[in-house]
Amino acid sequence: MLPYGRQSIDAADVEAVVAALGSDWLTTGPRVAGFEADLEKVAGAPCVTVTNGTTALHAAYAAAGVTRGDEVVTTPMTFVATASGAAMLGAKVIFADIEDESANIDPAAVEAALTERTRVIAAVDYAGVPADYDRLRKVGESSGALILGDAAHSIGSLDRGRPVGSLADLTTFSFFPTKNFTTGEGGAVASIRPELVTRLRAFRTVGVVREDFRNPDEGAWWYEVPEFGLNYRLPDVLAALGSAQLRRLGAFKERRRQLSARYDELLAGVPGLRLPTQRPEVDPMRHLYPVRVLDGRRREVFDRMREAGIGVQVNYIPVYWHPVFEDLGYRRGMCPNAEAFYAEELSLPLFADLSDDDQDRVVETLRGILGS
Ligand SMILES: *Cc1c(COP(=O)(O)O)cnc(C)c1O
Repeated sequence: MLPYGRQSIDAADVEAVVAALGSDWLTTGPRVAGFEADLEKVAGAPCVTVTNGTTALHAAYAAAGVTRGDEVVTTPMTFVATASGAAMLGAKVIFADIEDESANIDPAAVEAALTERTRVIAAVDYAGVPADYDRLRKVGESSGALILGDAAHSIGSLDRGRPVGSLADLTTFSFFPTKNFTTGEGGAVASIRPELVTRLRAFRTVGVVREDFRNPDEGAWWYEVPEFGLNYRLPDVLAALGSAQLRRLGAFKERRRQLSARYDELLAGVPGLRLPTQRPEVDPMRHLYPVRVLDGRRREVFDRMREAGIGVQVNYIPVYWHPVFEDLGYRRGMCPNAEAFYAEELSLPLFADLSDDDQDRVVETLRGILGS
């Protein structure tokens, strides 16, 4: 089966991991600090690495102070972790509908959902295209809510020249193998706010701090836990892979751009298909190639592509359709744009090592099914 996304590992990646395995530090050593410094150059803000994108979201919401009684406004067109991190801290999740064109959260819908209890507005950079953080910030200003960007799709993307990582107060990344680059499992949180970076570092290290003690005179062994945290540390072995992969990020981005442009060209004018578009002011890392299959044929096309050995995917099931939200009283119909998008969406294979030949096979198979 041709996958819809997969990693690209070269000899330099393997060498970096082997070197880390032979070093003094398997975890919490110099390669973590090095990877965080490398990430900062791409993200445009200090970064704290964690074990994956889900724990990055949990840590970001915790650093934002999200707690019982708070509300978090987010998009339903995402992986469930964007919402569950906030829900597990006791927040009430409010879903704001998406824009039809970008599938990103609609700032006008966010504005309508704000209350005095809104603590965080959490956007997702769907398919790699940054959400409209300038408008979200304007909308959220009076509420005092923090802006969070779930950038699992968009590390390396720019909006008017500004990198994803510098646009929101908190930005989370995932380094899962299907994402734009990988550490196997891995993630990070970037923040433009130094006080949040400090809280993130403590949270991912079981809440331990090594300065600003309440009891300063105990001895050189002393550390304190002022707030609860978890062990979300990324090992040095994986950080080594991360730094090696980051050196290839520009090449990954260029190949994804080429492949997306080829899809645009080869699928132009195919009846029953709507192709993705993007705002001219963004320079995205093209993480997904999400087409819309019209005329109620998405399920049939999905099944026939899979039967032909092509690993298409649906991104995403509206988050509040999951039983855990249904059991909390969330009902279908809440976000009509997201549900209409879900009903038609199909992600075609897109990854740096996808060959032109394999891509041609995807296009021919899809054209054959749609009868053009
Ligand atoms: C992949 C992904 C996550 C979760 O990241 P993991 O590293 O798999 O835990 C969260 N949000 C979005 C939008 C994702 O695509």
